[in-house]
Amino acid sequence: MKTYYSPIHLEHAPPEEFEGGRMNPAVEVPARALGVLAEVKRRNLGEVLPPAEFGMEPIARVHDAGLVGFLSEASELWRKRYGADAPPAIPSAWPARGLRNRPDGDVEARLGTWHAALSAANTALSAAQSVAQGERAAFALARPPGHHASADVFGGYCYLNNIAIAAQWLADRGLRPAILDVDYHHGNGTQSIFYRRPDVFFASLHGDPSFAYPHFLGFADECGEGDGDGANLNLPLAMYTDWRAYANALTLAFSRIRAFDPDVLLVSLGLDTFEADPISKFRLGTEDFLRLGELIGGARLPTLFVFEGGYNLTALPQITVNVLEGFESG
Ligand SMILES: [Zn+2]
Repeated sequence: MKTYYSPIHLEHAPPEEFEGGRMNPAVEVPARALGVLAEVKRRNLGEVLPPAEFGMEPIARVHDAGLVGFLSEASELWRKRYGADAPPAIPSAWPARGLRNRPDGDVEARLGTWHAALSAANTALSAAQSVAQGERAAFALARPPGHHASADVFGGYCYLNNIAIAAQWLADRGLRPAILDVDYHHGNGTQSIFYRRPDVFFASLHGDPSFAYPHFLGFADECGEGDGDGANLNLPLAMYTDWRAYANALTLAFSRIRAFDPDVLLVSLGLDTFEADPISKFRLGTEDFLRLGELIGGARLPTLFVFEGGYNLTALPQITVNVLEGFESG
């Protein structure tokens, strides 16, 4: 399988994040993708190619112009305000309920990163193109991740929704995409982008939002709206879910995906379901990721894998490539 990768993600290297009431070392770091890239090469998964440039049009098909404009200039505005060696851009004010949204306000009222996000979207699009041209599968080794970014809001380490941009691009070429999100966290951004759409199926297996981020979305009763009713499937799972329970949920997801009869499968490949992930609470072991890949491969669909979460830097390379190798053997 071909892997698409660009080193531009190295420009996006947040040192810290705010969690649990204090600053902590960031977990969504460049070493994630660098480790996976090395393992892809070590295990000879296939060619590693740079992404092509797709311009702004495929991004505009999914994202709000205000968000895209803001992300493209936020780093520069932040440096202008706080100096060239400014600390990471973290806002100290938010447009909470009852306040006015000020898309043109001071940088403290707007926030983000750009080149890396754009390159991640191009990486997903390049993998989509390769599958559209007849490859059985491709892997977009993209960061920052995307599945928490909605049309007009970024968050959860995500800026542009790489997989949604790729799915829309495929739909615009007459294909019928199904998205399977296996990240530990619900893909709230992807769900919201396609929630009213009957032509893109979205299924997500994730930690129940009663205890897991993103907390406000990802419940089982969210089935789609309007024309999209029935094209959204959430399978929230209990804390400490192991492979057995996970595989049952995955089988259910695939029965719904088969009923939708897609032309192409897009997998939001999060690896934070791993038992020793530092921010998650599932119990999938190293070998389970081979089985996960085999089950995905068993669907016999042209498949595009887009890298999402996964924060155990030691295991991440191996478990990521386990899914991809499992797919090829499945
Ligand atoms: Zn995640």
